[in-house]
Amino acid sequence: TKYILVSGGVVSGIGKGVIASSTGLLLKTAGLKVTAIKIDPYMNIDAGTMRPTEHGEVYVLNDGGEVDLDLGNYERYLDITLSKDNNITTGKIYREVIEKERRGEYLGKTVQIVPHVTNAIQDWIQRVSKIPVDESAEEPDICIVELGGTVGDIESAPFIEAMRQFQFRVGHDNFALIHVSLVPDMHGEQKTKPTQTTVHALRGLGLLPDLIACRLLGRQPLESSTKDKISMFCHVASEQVIGVHDVSSVYHVPLLLQSQRIIEYLHKRLNLASLNITEEWV
Ligand code: ADP
Repeated sequence: TKYILVSGGVVSGIGKGVIASSTGLLLKTAGLKVTAIKIDPYMNIDAGTMRPTEHGEVYVLNDGGEVDLDLGNYERYLDITLSKDNNITTGKIYREVIEKERRGEYLGKTVQIVPHVTNAIQDWIQRVSKIPVDESAEEPDICIVELGGTVGDIESAPFIEAMRQFQFRVGHDNFALIHVSLVPDMHGEQKTKPTQTTVHALRGLGLLPDLIACRLLGRQPLESSTKDKISMFCHVASEQVIGVHDVSSVYHVPLLLQSQRIIEYLHKRLNLASLNITEEWV
């Protein structure tokens, strides 16, 4: 299985879930079996006990799991059926680690965030990414892992560290990172500083973005001069900078991503040829 982590910077609620689902849809169209995991870095075990004004509506899965609406996006975009384990929360990870500690399975060791919590996160992702999610009953080729919240939050720190380690666990060819950032428009000028700051923070934590998805709030597309500037200051090639402006329907986002050749990029980056996906498919 190959993994695509989708993280976010600057502010939450900018369309990370839609970008993650759309990327999954394009890979599915290229002939791959895609699954998804959503990480919500809160202490609640699940969204079931949170009031809707706090969290937004709860999405209920086939197995009764009460989860974030993003899981609904994945089920609809990818035509798959997910289970409650496809939603990881801090509460679920801590519960697992504490129960294991009570059973004495850490053999007298001091139980710590690193390595015990970070290992539990990585083991969970690896286990769930291999569960079939469609009627083919085959193991998925690609697992999209969406990390909720924004990079730099205290809440998401153990997950960021787990993913930093994970890139070595699974290898360079099997792990790519899409970082979603905000490009505000100030009186007609597209500002890149928030993106520079968040990419800097991400690199400081040991994660290097393969694609930087720049959300623009408004109908104005990402200008090529803005793209060049982000490429220059964030140390990526300009083909790695993707603009995502407001579109009339979120179902147009896959086309917007495809027009910027993201599958071609991921094909190279993740060596999808090894999964029998040829360039003509993409
Ligand atoms: P996040 O995962 O970052 O919290 P979501 O993916 O849930 O954000 O998107 C937040 C809201 O923005 C949703 O209501 C979604 O419909 C809307 N949205 C996301 N991307 C776009 C876009 N490119 N154009 C218009 N609306 C969008």
